[in-house]
Amino acid sequence: MVESLHIGVLALQGAFREHRLMLEKCGAKVTEIRRPLGDSPWAGLESFDGLVLPGGESTTMGRLLVEEKLLEPLRACGLAGMPVYGSCAGLILLCREVEGPDGDSLDQPRLGLLDARVRRNAFGRQVDSFETRLDVGGVAGDVEAVFIRAPLIVSCGPEVEVLSRVEGPLGLSPVAVRQNGILATSFHPELTSDKRFHEFFLHICRSWRSAGGRCA
Ligand code: GLN
Repeated sequence: MVESLHIGVLALQGAFREHRLMLEKCGAKVTEIRRPLGDSPWAGLESFDGLVLPGGESTTMGRLLVEEKLLEPLRACGLAGMPVYGSCAGLILLCREVEGPDGDSLDQPRLGLLDARVRRNAFGRQVDSFETRLDVGGVAGDVEAVFIRAPLIVSCGPEVEVLSRVEGPLGLSPVAVRQNGILATSFHPELTSDKRFHEFFLHICRSWRSAGGRCA
């Protein structure tokens, strides 16, 4: 029997339950993370096969990550190669640089594991939220995607692979990206009935584990 993957979902704020349900539907075991789970430099998170950062409000989540002493351990897991998937606010937390809707740089707590600059609330008030189907490289040509006050990637480094783009206020912009084990989307696959994006993430987690990946 194939042993099921164990995924840690950050549960400080936002749409963490939806990720949990989706991952469980895909056969993974899920633990919600609200505080350090151990005394190691990875705060006990090193036992997971992958981590998920949900959508929500990125400044609140960043502040809570600092308060709960989870920011450094999460970063250390990502730097050690553990797969980390962030949706929407989770994407913002993963990016190296963050800007506001007008392009001004914002200094908010974040992991900075993804070599990209992201613009928060990039679609403006009129098109605050919408749904569409996207061609996502490596996943499928018709992935259901829900955008809610979504960020857009403004620029990204050479190691970042763009899996999907949408036409937005800044032209055709990346909305799904991958940099090795780091996966991020502007949209929320966890709010749909489409399991394929989470299955894709679990596939990355399984490959990492079977290649002997561990935090050390
Ligand atoms: N607008 C939110 C932020 O900037 C993200 C929205 C979301 O996660 N749905 O943090």
